[in-house]
Amino acid sequence: MSTLDVKEITDLMKKPNLAEKALIAKALAFATKIHTGQTRYSGEPYINHPFAVAKNLVEMGADTETIIAGLLHDSVEDKPTCQEELVREFGPKVAFLVEGVTKLGKLKYQGTTRHAESLRKLFVATAEDIRVILIRLADRLHNIQTLKFVSPEKQKRIALETLEIYAPLANRLGMWKIKGTLEDASFPYVYPDEYKQVVALRKNKGKELIKKLEKVYRVLSQELVKQKIADFEIDYRIKYLYSLYKKLKRHNMNIDDIYDLSALRVIVNTIPECYQVLGIIHNVWVPIPNKWKDYIAHPKPNGYRSIHTAVFTGDGSIVEIQIRTREMQHDAEYGIASHLIYDESGKPKVGGIMTKNLNWLQELIEWQKNVNQSDEFLHTLKTNFFQDRIFVFTPKGDVIELPKNATALDFAYRIHSNIGHQAVAAWVNGKFTSLDHKLNNRDLVKIETQKNAKPSAKWLNLIKTTSARNYIKKFLQTKKPKD
Ligand code: MN
Repeated sequence: MSTLDVKEITDLMKKPNLAEKALIAKALAFATKIHTGQTRYSGEPYINHPFAVAKNLVEMGADTETIIAGLLHDSVEDKPTCQEELVREFGPKVAFLVEGVTKLGKLKYQGTTRHAESLRKLFVATAEDIRVILIRLADRLHNIQTLKFVSPEKQKRIALETLEIYAPLANRLGMWKIKGTLEDASFPYVYPDEYKQVVALRKNKGKELIKKLEKVYRVLSQELVKQKIADFEIDYRIKYLYSLYKKLKRHNMNIDDIYDLSALRVIVNTIPECYQVLGIIHNVWVPIPNKWKDYIAHPKPNGYRSIHTAVFTGDGSIVEIQIRTREMQHDAEYGIASHLIYDESGKPKVGGIMTKNLNWLQELIEWQKNVNQSDEFLHTLKTNFFQDRIFVFTPKGDVIELPKNATALDFAYRIHSNIGHQAVAAWVNGKFTSLDHKLNNRDLVKIETQKNAKPSAKWLNLIKTTSARNYIKKFLQTKKPKD
């Protein structure tokens, strides 16, 4: 029998009541029984894995049902009869969550097909209940951190899949800490040589940087105390390895070109204090023009909020500084997981600032209905949904997220299908231009429409997004003369 102590989970939770504690203990006992006799590749009892997944979920701020489902997440796969038992013992919602992350049967599906179809199933369940994806990410997080025990062939496959699908997914959900951890754990398995190179580069440069940051830290702490900011934290960090690697590739691997290699972070209690701290910083050091960004007034579409600035520290170097509240800090680490709200029936939805952030998921569900081939599904998933994104502005200042290389016409359809259908031209940053104009990050876009304008088949070549494609196709089909 396992000697795992449920208190390791419940002590991490904010304020679990007695009933919740009892349910979690029951789930642990249930899962322990199911996994009795099973071991992981490392040789340890299998139950250690769901246990670690549950702890990851607590850290994300997940609720009790999700934590329970985390403990049970591999139980149906290992003992196919117990779905009904789960409903009986833990209720239909927990059973639904477990079912959502359960991979499809090995008998019916194999290889890439099993993998692709399991992912589809995961997305469909996620659209119904967003907590499904949290469990899958918590699961992957533990698997990737224990990857050294599996065969080299499997290591590479799992690590690559993590880089191509799960890390971008965490990114789109605003879960930056999860994304960074997933990427850095996968990096050495997928690109071993590059990994060594980046580690060495960062190590050399890092020492120098830490010294600089310590100096700024001292000066700034004194100044904040002097200006009566009562309760603040300052920490500094060096960029995650994999995101550093991606950036280095764009700069001929020259680490001296990376200005945001490190950042100092100031964490305070309130938003007014954030702006006060910005004023204090710009008063002490000269800010680099055009480098400061206010993501509090204009949050990124994935919900990210913070003020960024970069200053000359007087000794020829530049330091990037981020200012945010404690709440924003937790949001940045765990994104959507910290924005779940529950309606009267207990159904979770994403609240507040993250609401708009899930349009892509709906788009993905719609799109995948029309894709029959597993290969095509995986390919488009990687290239369309998870590729680099750009952020552009509407005339009202709303931020619209689009894939890289999206055009003004994609933007029009993202605003509304009728704006898309009646679009004739666009204004980008005040310049009149055509609908196939490729947009860049931070462009301000306005669409020119005409009542009698309508889509043509040629438009399918002018767009990049799946939603625009669907709208245009639908329009063309309904307008086709009947024969
Ligand atoms: Mn698992």
